[in-house]
Amino acid sequence: MATKKVGLECSKCGARNYTVPAPRGDKRLEIRKFCKHCKMYTLHRETR
Ligand SMILES: [Zn+2]
Repeated sequence: MATKKVGLECSKCGARNYTVPAPRGDKRLEIRKFCKHCKMYTLHRETR
């Protein structure tokens, strides 16, 4: 069974830094993660 993946994109610089398994339901992911481009923790949003 293939797991659907979604990208997590930095909301500051737009870099796609992570891929995670897609969550169930249509809740949009928003996670604070480290962005190597911004060199700080920023809010990352789900992209497809
Ligand atoms: Zn960034």
